[in-house]
Amino acid sequence: MTKFLLAEMTWPEVRDAVVAGRVLMQPVAAIEQHGPHLPVDADNRIVTSILEEVGRRSPEEFVIAPCIPYGFNDHNMEFPGTVSIRPATFLEYCYDAGHSFATMGFRRILWLNGHGSNRPLVEIAVRRITTDTPAYAALADNIWAKVDQTLRLRTSPLGGIAHACEQETSFYLHLRPDLVREDLIADELPNGLPEHVVHDPAALNTLTFMSWYSQRTKSGVDGAPSHASRDKGRAWFEGAVGLVTEIARSFRTMDLPARHDERPGQPWSPGLRSVPVSERETS
Ligand SMILES: [Zn+2]
Repeated sequence: MTKFLLAEMTWPEVRDAVVAGRVLMQPVAAIEQHGPHLPVDADNRIVTSILEEVGRRSPEEFVIAPCIPYGFNDHNMEFPGTVSIRPATFLEYCYDAGHSFATMGFRRILWLNGHGSNRPLVEIAVRRITTDTPAYAALADNIWAKVDQTLRLRTSPLGGIAHACEQETSFYLHLRPDLVREDLIADELPNGLPEHVVHDPAALNTLTFMSWYSQRTKSGVDGAPSHASRDKGRAWFEGAVGLVTEIARSFRTMDLPARHDERPGQPWSPGLRSVPVSERETS
């Protein structure tokens, strides 16, 4: 049985995984309040469980690194149980982890993000790893609405999927029902907020805006967890495993043309730290 968890491998096994051209994947999420009914590890548990299942089913193709468990979370600090890493620190931490994977020899690095506020920071980290090292790094984000695009299991009204919501609660009910306080499940919909700032993926969501979370919700819930169920969770989890496998496979086999640098003379900027064209692998 091929190992697929980086943490369980020996260094020669990691070297073999690099030689085999496997994709290094890492969950990145948060320890963050998720209302009175879900544990604060919800984001970590969801993305880690999905990636570990992806690795378990296709161990010859993927290696799963331990989760980056803390994210950028200043807006939620009024609720106990939330941890926030300053954005510059978080960005550099992600960058250093990805840079280490590239230094090991991995040439495809993919993060699955489970916490929306991490998005712009992880995006910058993956762009920089791609320009600064011979590896290509990418971010899988915003997959949650796509998971339901064909399943169409959602039943909550607009605003029902955002945080500690129909979808996250369903995932958690599938993964660890014993940790869900079902007796405390209660909906809080973003009543009165313009649709431009509603976080539901089905909403317009055209303004990037984050107030203090206590200004959006009393309980910490932003959505309709009363619509959650184990069956939805199981189906969405299967859908997510399939979708992430597909995304990671296409990223693994992606073939880009060789770089060309049109600047006359010895290029020095931008990309002072980036690898010269001649050292960049081309397939
Ligand atoms: Zn969450």
